[in-house]
Amino acid sequence: MADLFDKFEALTSTREAMPFEEANPVGIVMDEVISPTEAMIDGRRTILAGTNNYLGLTLDPRCIAAAHEALDAAGTGTTGSRVLNGTYAGHKQLEDALANLYGTDQCIVFSTGFLANLAVIGALAGKDDYILLDADSHASIYDGCGMSGATIVRFKHNDAADLDKRLTRLGVEGSRVLIVVEGLYSMLGDRAPLDDLVAVKKKHGAYLLVDEAHSLGVFGETGRGVGQDMGLDDDIDFIVGTFSKSVGTIGGYCVSNHPKFDILRLAARPYMFTASLPPSVVASATKAIEILGSEPEHRERLWRNAKQLHEGLRRAGFTLGADCSPVVAVKVDSPDILVRFWEKLVLNGVYVNLAMPPATPQGLCLLRCSLSAAHTPEQVDTIIETFEKVARMNSVGMPALEPVD
Ligand code: PMP
Repeated sequence: MADLFDKFEALTSTREAMPFEEANPVGIVMDEVISPTEAMIDGRRTILAGTNNYLGLTLDPRCIAAAHEALDAAGTGTTGSRVLNGTYAGHKQLEDALANLYGTDQCIVFSTGFLANLAVIGALAGKDDYILLDADSHASIYDGCGMSGATIVRFKHNDAADLDKRLTRLGVEGSRVLIVVEGLYSMLGDRAPLDDLVAVKKKHGAYLLVDEAHSLGVFGETGRGVGQDMGLDDDIDFIVGTFSKSVGTIGGYCVSNHPKFDILRLAARPYMFTASLPPSVVASATKAIEILGSEPEHRERLWRNAKQLHEGLRRAGFTLGADCSPVVAVKVDSPDILVRFWEKLVLNGVYVNLAMPPATPQGLCLLRCSLSAAHTPEQVDTIIETFEKVARMNSVGMPALEPVD
């Protein structure tokens, strides 16, 4: 007899076939958080090199104090949606802080970055519209496209010429087209060629949405993202982002100068039909946004760490996913090597992300590291040394590395 769970059989067998012996990537528990870059995992003091805590703000005393104060003043939660009963003064202040950071007229805050993409993409594009999205887009972008009912066309990753070709072939009015890309791609750490993409958007008169989830706080003079870094913010119609990385908490947002943008509050179901962020989260996010906009020193430390790790692993002979960024992805040849390598890293006190298809592009197996401003140079050295040590272990099955100058 057929059963609802039958469809998971292939997934269950894949999971069971993974040769984990002593650690399991989905079973990792951080028993004690020591700092933004260290935790106790299974009795071992572990360097965290896969947190997305880019600026290390999760334990910033100012963010914590702001959260405490809001918790004491307004309680543990809003118990409602923004549309019915869940907008507090803090939500407005947070939206103002983001609009101020981006210099935009408008901002809407959502309960997660995932919901921000579902809400904005899903509501903006309807059944008579078109979405052209980069093939390597995040799951939330794909799901937003699914919810929209629009015609979906994928273009080759980071290929503006392919986007242009597909738009030309479609031959529809640009004003019915939403192009969706990311600023920094989270798996390989490669950047979007926003200048070329903006040129194509302008040529066709389309709208452009850029998800800066991994670039907020990381790129640009005041940390707005890759758009600011490339001087192109004014050419982007909708910038989406998250508080779950550089901002160190949870939540999402979209900023825009479109005069009709605010109607999304009444049109987007993932905004209307879910509870708003609790006051403590709103307060720490507001404080973190203030910090990331006004204290470039965190960004500078982050980039120093990124360069040290990227350069160290490259010199050791590892194959890396992209040019230097705070996401450093080490490519390995097979899922078996990936699983063994990841496990040995954890057992030797370094936690990175185990990334494999379908979460990765081109079927790649990646040991994905993300740096933090809070890493010390010594910790980054230890990460590099541990990668080298594990690569030499026979049981991992990694081909010998050829160090380069
Ligand atoms: N967009 C991108 C590109 C992401 O990488 C992520 C999270 N990994 C999200 C959106 C979702 O963000 P959140 O964690 O706030 O739901």
